[in-house]
Amino acid sequence: METVEKEDEENDFYKNAENYWAEIPATVQGMLGGFGHISRVDIQGSKQFLKHLFQLKKPPGKTYACDCGAGIGRITKYLLSNIFDKVDLVEQNSNFLDQAKEYLGPTVLSKIGEFNPCGLQNFSPEPNRYDIIWCQWVLGHLTEEDLIYFIQKCSESLRENGVIIIKENVTSSGAVEDDEKDSSVTRPFSMYMDIFKKANVNCFKKIKQTSFPKELYPVYMFALRKIT
Ligand code: SAH
Repeated sequence: METVEKEDEENDFYKNAENYWAEIPATVQGMLGGFGHISRVDIQGSKQFLKHLFQLKKPPGKTYACDCGAGIGRITKYLLSNIFDKVDLVEQNSNFLDQAKEYLGPTVLSKIGEFNPCGLQNFSPEPNRYDIIWCQWVLGHLTEEDLIYFIQKCSESLRENGVIIIKENVTSSGAVEDDEKDSSVTRPFSMYMDIFKKANVNCFKKIKQTSFPKELYPVYMFALRKIT
């Protein structure tokens, strides 16, 4: 009985998020909840973070990236497609993926491998496929259990020296905060560390995004690799 209730609850959690995003315009403004103007600073911070990774002794390759919870492809357009030969987009809302085909424009479009209409809780990437897996402003939509499993699967799908990058809001309160409107949670920093441990990945670099508006949650970038 308890398991059934838990399953129902989880189905509602995912269904409600789907319904929420179904009403959101397929624009940068929509993707960023009305904070479209922070996109430039966001991308700038991400570029810096990637730059650090390419300066590692064992840097990731530049062949194949995956944009998880890609929306209309904002990060692919302004960041990933400028660095990697190919990019896959994984996104649960297929309208956003349709819009991505227009939004990205012909040059970027020629670099797209797959438009994958899939919830990350059901995503099973091929082993040894990606140099970088980018996950931003989406993981609060996964349950803790699904998130651990997702990170584990991603770590298996990295190529040699590949890296998973997570860029997410974290709470300052130290507690999990629920957002009933979009059916997501915001996790504290310590919980991410715990989740990484459970997923058997090493968080070898973390940086706080600077220059975001004060009223937003703090945003961190984490670089993860499988513990071998
Ligand atoms: N990462 C993009 C989009 C952020 S908006 C960017 O930074 O521009 C959050 C996106 O996550 C939306 O496109 C929404 O449809 C998607 N999303 C929500 N739940 C998801 C899930 N379970 N699996 C995959 N994508 C999901």
